[in-house]
Amino acid sequence: MIKESTLNAADASQVFNIDSGDYFIRNIPAGSTFRIVDLEGNQAADTLFYNANDPAERYSATDTIREQGNVYLSAGSELRTNQNNVMIEIVADTCGRHDTLGGACATESNTVRYDLEKRCMHACRDSWMLAIAENPEYGLSKRDISHNINFFMNVPVTEAGGLTFEDGISGAGKYVEMVAKMDIIILISNCPQLNNPCNGYNPTPVDLLVWN
Ligand SMILES: [Zn+2]
Repeated sequence: MIKESTLNAADASQVFNIDSGDYFIRNIPAGSTFRIVDLEGNQAADTLFYNANDPAERYSATDTIREQGNVYLSAGSELRTNQNNVMIEIVADTCGRHDTLGGACATESNTVRYDLEKRCMHACRDSWMLAIAENPEYGLSKRDISHNINFFMNVPVTEAGGLTFEDGISGAGKYVEMVAKMDIIILISNCPQLNNPCNGYNPTPVDLLVWN
């Protein structure tokens, strides 16, 4: 569902630029509004969320999909945890649909889907692993790398019930905006994938704006 924000980007408390292929990790306090902006269009932002006070509680695709009865995320979606608590609400969205079924790219899945030679290519799981290794203060470990959201990524469910990675429906300047319902950790891998159209074969930066 397309829904414009009422907030002005110029009033944001903080603006972070996340380069293509980079990770981003940060605490966002409860009550804050935050926005991810697809600056150049067709970029996938592979994102994990945790309860900052107990990272064992984290974003759950299965609980979110079951409770909302829809496999896509958009304005109005409540993002739930593995304890079925609402951790985040999507309050505005100019892209219209975000994936939470396709998972993140990994060197292993790249070899299965594309070619054994792709094993050395940079992938989202590596970015997340680097993030938790370089930022031990968040208390995350390998076992916490779990369900994720692919903001701006187009993964339609086919009539036969399969999944396909399709050319993006996002465009330059489109955004998704959320409100944190608990203190959260946001961990983004700004996807470096070059083997499928999720980034238009050209990974580009995204911005994260925070109002608090
Ligand atoms: Zn990726």
